[in-house]
Amino acid sequence: MMIKKAGISALVVCLFLVLLGQGLVQAQGGLTILDNSAEAEFPLKLHFSLSAKSDVTITDIRLHYTVDRESYAQVTSEVYIEFVPDTSVDVQWSWDMRKTGGLPPGSSVEYWWTVEDVKGDKTATAPVRVQFNDDRYSWQSLSEGKVTIYWYQGGQSFAAEIMLAAQQALARLAEDTGAYPKKPVRIYVYANSYDLQGAMIFPQEWTGGVAFTRYGIIAIGIALDSLSWGKRAVAHELTHLVIHQMTLNPYTGLPTWLDEGLAKYTEGVLGAVFTAYLERAITENSLISVRSLSSPFSAYAEESYLAYAQSYSLVEFLITSYGQGKMLELLDTFSEGSDYDGALAKVYGFDMDGLDALWRDYITLQYQTAEVTTAVISPAPIRIFTELASGLLLDLRLATQGWLWRWG
Ligand SMILES: [Zn+2]
Repeated sequence: MMIKKAGISALVVCLFLVLLGQGLVQAQGGLTILDNSAEAEFPLKLHFSLSAKSDVTITDIRLHYTVDRESYAQVTSEVYIEFVPDTSVDVQWSWDMRKTGGLPPGSSVEYWWTVEDVKGDKTATAPVRVQFNDDRYSWQSLSEGKVTIYWYQGGQSFAAEIMLAAQQALARLAEDTGAYPKKPVRIYVYANSYDLQGAMIFPQEWTGGVAFTRYGIIAIGIALDSLSWGKRAVAHELTHLVIHQMTLNPYTGLPTWLDEGLAKYTEGVLGAVFTAYLERAITENSLISVRSLSSPFSAYAEESYLAYAQSYSLVEFLITSYGQGKMLELLDTFSEGSDYDGALAKVYGFDMDGLDALWRDYITLQYQTAEVTTAVISPAPIRIFTELASGLLLDLRLATQGWLWRWG
């Protein structure tokens, strides 16, 4: 115990000396940071400010920042601050997310400043982490395992129901695919889609939920009276997040049918509307090829219903015919950056066309032997459409957010 204490004291002394040392260097040069801070204006802006002085003119100020998210290469952004050189300066800079795309609620940014004066003296501030929180609401939180749910409307039982759905989805996903969350997952449950849209820089009318896979964050709008939809949507987005954590690599993404198929499969039994679309496509011989389903889905509702239904069925076929081990092997192969045909061939011994042929036999047989379903393809109930749309949004993000990093 004594030894431990002595160790801690020594550490404290060392730290003190280090701090003192830095202070002395600054005093000698006369270049001093007086103040620096950052403030979030969610979801639009992140404001940074700095005051510094020196005995000579300050000539160069830069802000450096990195976004906390999973990536294979650490990206540090550097901002050259425009200011009038002087011995005493106050500068501000705002990161306008409308120009760059936004950050999800609960994300964080680490930043530091470097300042230089005309004599060439330089100083840097210690890195500080600023949280980009959605402070428009008073969030409560509930944690279990790797999952934390944040919510602000509804009681403890509402959050507990969502947590149960999340845990059940993770258990189902692990059983079917061997995939599990490698990192913590945070789920921000907004009270409705309107509130959720207020958290987005470029909201879509139909945004139901978004998985910000690199951040380990899901944002979703679940009204108290749409809990059953919400539980499926949480299972869906959570699957995207875990699968992306499992397969992140700098080379290739996943084929869309696999990504969306796993997400829909983890939700539970395929809904009647999707089944009806699938059945009709079999009857009319208008199924979409696996190769086409590997690209982002059509934005047209009719086609995307079928695309999601087929993706579900393809994943069901692979899992029920070849088992969990092969699916995990497939995900592992994709994490190494394999191309679609190569990964399938390595794990299952057939490429996308081979899968297409085998699956068509499987699905045709399944629907021939099944009782004729009576589901009618009617105008899409808004909630099912929202369910669809959350997947579409993810694809959209993947395609359009390449400027600095990808949301997916
Ligand atoms: Zn999806």
